Amino acid sequence: MERILVSACLMGRRVRYDGGAKTSTDALLAEWREQGRLVPFCPEVEGGLPTPRTAAEIEGGAGGAAVLAGAARVLATDGQDVTGAFLAGAQAALAVAGSFDIKMAILKEGSPSCGALAIYDGTFRGRRLPGQGVTTSLLELHGIKVFTEDHIAEAGDYLRALET
Ligand code: SF4
Repeated sequence: MERILVSACLMGRRVRYDGGAKTSTDALLAEWREQGRLVPFCPEVEGGLPTPRTAAEIEGGAGGAAVLAGAARVLATDGQDVTGAFLAGAQAALAVAGSFDIKMAILKEGSPSCGALAIYDGTFRGRRLPGQGVTTSLLELHGIKVFTEDHIAEAGDYLRALET
């Protein structure tokens, strides 16, 4: 059975920067949970950050690939450089994925760690632009396909293809 890495906040775990969750009520996700397929993971917590924590964005909205390349930092609203924790969390996510031979993930859109199609632009003004978070970039670099919580049906198609 293929396992799927999932943002822990989508599974109801209160791990977000504000101490809350972003619980998904998606029926397919619930089915996969029942099947024991899901591996919940929060890269920011596993990277060593506390909950709650200061919100952070990738400077310039540069995207996870730029952070991995050392070309951009992840900064908190108070100016603290939290790049190291984000990189550690991404590496931990990759390690967990590897331990379960995981080939796909469903991650929370918009996050500087988990975003797959959009991230915030680094100004803390609530403006999104196309881009990926640090964990998503690292997973995709290693061939793990990442879907957002808004594309779980597509993730289902991908899973069926993996298992046939
Ligand atoms: Fe959710 Fe990912 Fe943010 Fe953790 S890092 S709270 S799993 S979006």
